[in-house]
This record gives sequence, structure tokens and C-alpha cells, in this order.
Amino acid sequence: MKTPTLDTLSSIHEDGSHKSVHPADVHGPFTQWRRWSALLLLGIYIALPWIPVNGFPAVFLDVQERRFHFMGLTLATQDLWVGFFLITGLAFSLFYVTALFGRVWCGWTCPYTVFLEHVYRRIERWIDGDATARRKLDAAPWTPNKIWRRALKHGVYLLMSALIAHIFLSYFVSLKKLYQMMQGPPGEHLMAFGIMVFLTGALYFAFSWFREQFCIILCPYGRLQSALIDDHSVVIGYDKIRGEPRGKVGSTKGDCIDCRRCVQVCPTSIDIRNGMQLECIGCAACVDACDDIMLKLKRPKGLVRYDSYVGLQGGKTKLLRPRILLYTALLFIGIGAFAFSATHITPLRASSVRMLGAPFYVADGVLRNQFLIRVINKRNTPAKYRLELVGEVPAELNVNGLTETLELGPLGEDQKTLVLSLPEKAFKKSFKLQVKVTDTERGDHMITRVMEFLGPDPRLQSDAPLNPKDYIQ
Ligand code: SF4
Ligand code: SF4
Repeated sequence: MKTPTLDTLSSIHEDGSHKSVHPADVHGPFTQWRRWSALLLLGIYIALPWIPVNGFPAVFLDVQERRFHFMGLTLATQDLWVGFFLITGLAFSLFYVTALFGRVWCGWTCPYTVFLEHVYRRIERWIDGDATARRKLDAAPWTPNKIWRRALKHGVYLLMSALIAHIFLSYFVSLKKLYQMMQGPPGEHLMAFGIMVFLTGALYFAFSWFREQFCIILCPYGRLQSALIDDHSVVIGYDKIRGEPRGKVGSTKGDCIDCRRCVQVCPTSIDIRNGMQLECIGCAACVDACDDIMLKLKRPKGLVRYDSYVGLQGGKTKLLRPRILLYTALLFIGIGAFAFSATHITPLRASSVRMLGAPFYVADGVLRNQFLIRVINKRNTPAKYRLELVGEVPAELNVNGLTETLELGPLGEDQKTLVLSLPEKAFKKSFKLQVKVTDTERGDHMITRVMEFLGPDPRLQSDAPLNPKDYIQ
């Protein structure tokens, strides 16, 4: 195994082809904590569509009904602007955490790392053995031993990818529907089946072959990190002052004995001793590996450790700095804006539009305007609504369509045709009206946008000469 440098990627061959990285097994407190946190996160990813909050799954992006449920908050399509604050709030949280602790998100909580390191690599470890055995098997000819191991490994990978694809789908399709679809023939739900096959293929490709290249080449967050951190951000680094010059066991040189354990355990195959690198996902495997060596040598731990660049140079890491203060302010503004907007979502929505066709009709001396009133109940419970006209309603105006109470189920919607009639003689000029929709039990209400009752301009019907001023606004 060549020593990684800063000039080339050790996970690709010189001709640019992909080279499999086989990180060695590592033990230590960070590895243990990462395993526990991965187990917890896997449980959360799987359980979120199963845990009911306010009668709906904790996270359910119901694309079919155009409703989005998030921890008890239900957003209709019209409320998706609230999602903007949620997404920006999450982005600011990530900026904040990165400025403080570098790529801790990548190494500890990113779903890609969790699945790759704690599911797929473990399957590989069980079937193919440790890193040395895996490398040997890669280089071995296609003997029956290699064939059955490869067939078993890729079969399990495919099954696991299909399982993850189903878990992913359960965030968008209700569990009941997903179960029904799984039981029926694919032809009955071709779209969902196609998505599932595509996802399974993409996951299989990513986790069986592409692996760390996703973090190194594709992930945009990895590219951003150098703009988000500074010399005081706590990252994983090598203490050059203590470690150099490298020596052998028992020598009086630096503490690093050049055993390369930190390189062997690295899932992106880099040498942290070359300094902070874009490929480092902050997994802390090298910290545990080096601490283990230091313990055996009876030297203090922490030659490779969580520290800032300043700390590794012997200085003092500053926690409070302008960047952190700015990100803290942005984080609180984001949280505040989300909390405010989430608690001020109107529980009903009403709209009024003129019906297609002529703006008005005249028949038998009666002038008629027709509108479509649409009411949406955004609550998770049934509601009854009273619809009434507001504005300067002429006494002669005959209203049809608003007399009944409108009953809507949870998250239901309905529309009514509102027909307004006025004796033609009573029409002097167009006038404005609105519909007020009131929840009869809770009192919430909403007034629709202005509707204009139109009719023939009386001036066009009179014999008096037209004054152009009347037409120029
Ligand atoms: S350098 Fe260390 S922390 Fe970074 S990816 Fe490699 S093993 Fe993980
Ligand atoms: S594990 Fe520690 S001692 Fe060994 S090469 Fe890496 S930094 Fe040096």
C-alpha cells in the first residue's frame, strides 16, 4: 500500500480507474460511540414513518394528497413557504456545527456514512473477512470460494438496497399503501415500482462500488467545508510538533513511529499527517487507531486528536469568534422565523375565482355573475364552515350557493358555485364583494380576495355622447 500524498487520490489508480478501499478494523471509544449513534440513527430513519404524531407519521411527505407532515405539523401545498425556513434553519445549523467541529456531520450522522460504514461495510466484513483477507480476495483468481462469496455479498447488498429503497418510499407513500403495492403486481403501480427499482439500483451502485468517491467527488457539502471552517474550528488533526521527526519504537525522535495505522483504518484512504484534507470525513477512526498505538508505547494519547489548527500549533482555541457569533445569530433568526411561521399557519384556506366563460350573462332582464369558491380545511380534524358575502351587498342582489354549511373532513377540500343575480335595471356600475368563510366551532375565518360584480356599462347603453375621459384611467 503506497503512502498517500496530497498530490493524488489514493482511492483511484494512476489510470483513473476506481480502487477499492479496505479500511482495517479499529477499536476505541470513538468507534464505539459512532456505532451506538449509528444504531440509534438507523432506528430513527426506519421508525419515523411508523411513529404517529397528531394522527400522522412523524415525517410523511404525502405527495399524492399534497400534504406534508412533520413532527405533528401539517403543511398544505399553500404552506410550503414555511418549509423554506425549515430548510434554511437546517442549513444554518449545519454551518454552525461545521464552524465549531468541522465535518462532524459527515463522520457521525450523515445517512450515507451511516449506511456505508455501519451496514454495507459490516456485511462485507462478515462475508469477506478483515481488510487483509478482502484485499487478498480482490486479487485472487475466480475460484469457487471467491465466486460464492461474491455472489452472497452482492445478493445481500441488493436485498439491503431494496429494503432501504422501501424505507425511503415509506416517507412518501403511506405504510398501508406501500404494503398493498408490495402485495400487488408491479403493473398496477408502475411509477412507484420504477422509482423503487431505480433507487435500489442507485443504492447498490453507490454502496457496493462508488462508496467513498461520493463524499470525495460528489457531495457539495464536502466542497463547502473549507469556506465554513477557520483556524479555530475543532477538526481531526495530527500534532506535528509532537510527532515529528518520525522515528522507530524506542527512538528519542518524535512520538510518531510511522506505523501507518492511521492510514490503514481511514475509510477515504488518506494520511492525516499530511494535514487537513478535503477527503477527511471526520470519522475519528485514525484517532482511535493512533491512541491505541500510543497506549501500547506508553506515550500520552492524542497525537492524532480533535483539535483546532491553532491548538495543534500549541495555541489556545477560541470558541467565541465573529464567525460563530454570526452563525449563532443566523441560527436563532432561522429558528425564530420557522417557529413564528409554523405557529401562524391559517388553519383554513379559501379562494374565489370568476368561472370560465363570459364575465357576466344577461337573460330575461337579469344580470348574472358566477364564481367558484374553494375552501380547504388544513386541520387534521373535521370542520364545519359558514360562508357569507361581505362588502356593499345591494339589497336587490340574489345569492345562490352560500346558504348551506360546508362540512369538510380532515385535510379535506371542496368548492361551491356562487351565482349572483341582479335585475339589469338595478345595475349602475360594477361593485366589489368578498366571501367570508368562518369555522363555526372554532371561529377561525378567512376572507377571500375581492370579486367584482360586472355588468354592461350603462353609459354604452345610453344615447348620450361618450366622454373619452370616462375611459382613460
Ligand atoms: S483522516 Fe481520520 S478522521 Fe479523516 S476520514 Fe480518515 S480516518 Fe476518518
Ligand atoms: S497511527 Fe500514530 S504513530 Fe502510527 S503513523 Fe499514524 S500518527 Fe504515527
